[in-house]
Amino acid sequence: MAAPRRILILGGSAEASALARHLAPREEHDVTVSFAGRTRERVPTPGAVRVGGFGGIEGLASYLESEHVDVLLDATHPFAARMPHHAAAACRATGVPRLRVCRPPWAQAEGDRWLEVADLEAAAARLRDLDARRVFLTTGRQELAPFAHVRDAWFLVRAIESPATMPLANASVVLGRGPFEEASELALMTEYGIDVLVTKNSGGRSSEAKLHAARRLQLPVVMIDRPPPPDGPRATTVEEAVSWLAGLESGGQDGPTG
Ligand code: NAP
Repeated sequence: MAAPRRILILGGSAEASALARHLAPREEHDVTVSFAGRTRERVPTPGAVRVGGFGGIEGLASYLESEHVDVLLDATHPFAARMPHHAAAACRATGVPRLRVCRPPWAQAEGDRWLEVADLEAAAARLRDLDARRVFLTTGRQELAPFAHVRDAWFLVRAIESPATMPLANASVVLGRGPFEEASELALMTEYGIDVLVTKNSGGRSSEAKLHAARRLQLPVVMIDRPPPPDGPRATTVEEAVSWLAGLESGGQDGPTG
């Protein structure tokens, strides 16, 4: 029997864990999932796990070579700004096939009041323009600092883990990990008298209920766009990624680019 294909999955998203659950039990695959190591508690993932940065593009390239990685599935979060570009460059340098696995962004629907902005700083500036008073901030515990200058607002910060430091003068933290339901999102926003929601356009089902709640309450949503992805093949679902891999195994293809 041929040696199992060595697959490196760059983790940090629900799709990475789902890919590991799908691929790791198959004996033709030898799967390692890599995490940056930002969260204290990780969702358990099958396959081997490694944690921590590689040391830039060169570090990742030498890891790919020393570990004889056959294929890299970059399933980092849609808002991981650096790692996808490092993966693209390291795979180019080593000739390892790479697929970016990234769920589609959310799209505005009838009744939505989105204010689309490029980044966290622009989101903070937009809050000042809006004269927002009670903000539901769901961008994550490590990305609060840009909002420290929005002095007149009070923030309800939702995060998976408590922030190590709190740069916001007027804020309460509510801990939570998706999936969330529309009814509980509505109740939370109503209880705290929220007048604007700030979110990254992460996409996916797990945390979209807050958008439905904001629509019901007719609240503006400051929607932060994704960082630009590297060029190259892309899949938007686990199924697409699995079929790209199957195409590679049966003789090579560049895969979907949607
Ligand atoms: P980033 O800006 O793209 O990456 C920063 C550095 O962290 C990278 O240069 C790399 O260090 C290391 N790194 C990132 N992902 C890694 C992985 N899967 N395995 C090993 N090292 C990794 O990413 P970030 O925004 O800091 O996010 C860090 C991690 O959290 C990512 O894995 C991402 O999937 C996950 N995450 C991010 C967000 C978000 O909103 N940004 C949300 C949920 C989850 P070296 O250069 O030393 O290799």
